[in-house]
Amino acid sequence: MEIVKQIGRMEAIVQRLKGKNTIGLVPTMGALHSGHLSLIKKARQECGYSIVSIFVNPWQFGAKEDFKIYPRPIKKDLKLCRESGVDIVFYPKPKDMYPVDFKTHVAVEKLSNLLCGASRPGHFLGVTTVVCKLLNIIQPNIAYFGQKDAQQVIIIKRMVQDLNIRVKIKTLPIVRESDGLAMSSRNIYLNSAQRQEALCLYRALRTAKKLVKSGVNEAASIKKAIVSVIQESNSAKTDYIAIVDERNLSPVKCINRRILIALAVYFGKTRLIDNVVVRPKP
Ligand code: AMP
Repeated sequence: MEIVKQIGRMEAIVQRLKGKNTIGLVPTMGALHSGHLSLIKKARQECGYSIVSIFVNPWQFGAKEDFKIYPRPIKKDLKLCRESGVDIVFYPKPKDMYPVDFKTHVAVEKLSNLLCGASRPGHFLGVTTVVCKLLNIIQPNIAYFGQKDAQQVIIIKRMVQDLNIRVKIKTLPIVRESDGLAMSSRNIYLNSAQRQEALCLYRALRTAKKLVKSGVNEAASIKKAIVSVIQESNSAKTDYIAIVDERNLSPVKCINRRILIALAVYFGKTRLIDNVVVRPKP
């Protein structure tokens, strides 16, 4: 496994590989867990060459967010990548990704201001800009993303289509702990009481899914049920509960097509997200 820190070196390798190998890219911010590893495994299965990028992207963190304390266990991450059979880890420095005279951003309008974008202004501008850069540098045939960040995938697919970026975006299911908590690099911020209370996210989503499957089709009723499950946890503070069209995030009142139910909830200072896609009862 090669660790590439220089953008120029990465581009040179890509030039050599292009056309001869299928390149699979897994973009990450490191602090790898089984969710990331599921993406890596798929990239390994489907592509001749697998590249994992590890870059804690400063542009996608708000001024008061956790950029400085975000976990960066790089030695452990490299070990996991090596053990998973990754060919290259691309590990650039912020000053190389964003030199002092950097001035360009990629904005996916409207979609970036909803849900997580509403509570984290500028977040998706940072995401789309860095993903666009990574896709340009690495030129993968396939890039792998997790359904955990459902809105992110919708926005990236839009960007790729709008800007004619030649890459296939693949989405893989959410990987959960055995008790249902969605794996996240931020779960380590939770103390043991918060960790226990955070299970209400999955419980609320399961309750909602069951109701939809049983024929309840009013989004307001589903939302009410979600609220009451979340309220069982003392420390939970809801950021948003969204019941939206799975393809374009537009709000849904009557559930008559595939919907995305997405939650963002604070436990102390830690904001967790989770979601489920549900098809209504036929
Ligand atoms: P991050 O390092 O948090 O930027 O995540 C990198 C990629 O891993 C993104 O595409 C995430 O959606 C994906 N990911 C994070 N957590 C999970 C999870 N629990 N299950 C599946 N994919 C995940």
